Amino acid sequence: MPELPEVETTRRGLAPHAVGGRILAVTVREPRLRWPVPPALPAALAGQRISGVDRRAKYLLFRTAAGSLMVHLGMSGSLRVVPAATPPAAHDHIDIVLEGGLALRYNDPRRFGSFHWLPGGDGHPLLAHLGPEPLGDAFDGAHLYRLSRGRRAPVKAFIMDARIVVGVGNIYAAESLFLAGISPLRGAGRIGAARYDALAGHIRAVLTAAIAQGGTTLRDFVGGDGRPGYFAQQLWVYGRGGQPCRRCGTPLRERRIAQRASVYCVACQR
Ligand SMILES: [Zn+2]
Repeated sequence: MPELPEVETTRRGLAPHAVGGRILAVTVREPRLRWPVPPALPAALAGQRISGVDRRAKYLLFRTAAGSLMVHLGMSGSLRVVPAATPPAAHDHIDIVLEGGLALRYNDPRRFGSFHWLPGGDGHPLLAHLGPEPLGDAFDGAHLYRLSRGRRAPVKAFIMDARIVVGVGNIYAAESLFLAGISPLRGAGRIGAARYDALAGHIRAVLTAAIAQGGTTLRDFVGGDGRPGYFAQQLWVYGRGGQPCRRCGTPLRERRIAQRASVYCVACQR
């Protein structure tokens, strides 16, 4: 599944090609995504100029004077820049054809992605209750400390809750908890301010490193410029249940926390 770093990598890959470009047409070959593509979308976008490409959580927002196109990549979606004349391949569901001969092409084998039209502003129910961006100014240890008081939920579930902070997927939660030395099972309300400062710093660092490497999580991920993502980052714990801890050699333990596989070191994480 494309995680925040893959979506941000896609944004950075697309933006130089998309921003400033005028949309000639939107071709929808398959409207049946997670929600139906709005029938009015092609007419709303045709003739508009893309003034910016932003990201909120895992949503891409293509800005125009008339409103914003909001795209989610779902489980298997990708957006790439192609010459508009390139014949569509299987699962190439939507083209945003730009003046000058390029198109933004959306491919999604599993069709869990979505296209929404936001006429003016960012108002959309899907964006209404999201926590701060993990790489933005509103996210820090004090934020985590404040919201966690009185909470018994395991800290791993807490930091993966998009109402607390967006974009901390399973891999990034597992890695940052290891680096902070915090057990994923510990109740969120039983962690002090200094440890949350450390955790917030590691969340930022792990996501920043993943973005710098073009995303780490999905084997067949393709960045906005067509280059594949890859597992370049050495993982400390994620996906390594039963293997020795890279720091102390203790076999890593695997438990399910909030329905997600969670790997951690009982010696290094308390
Ligand atoms: Zn260890």
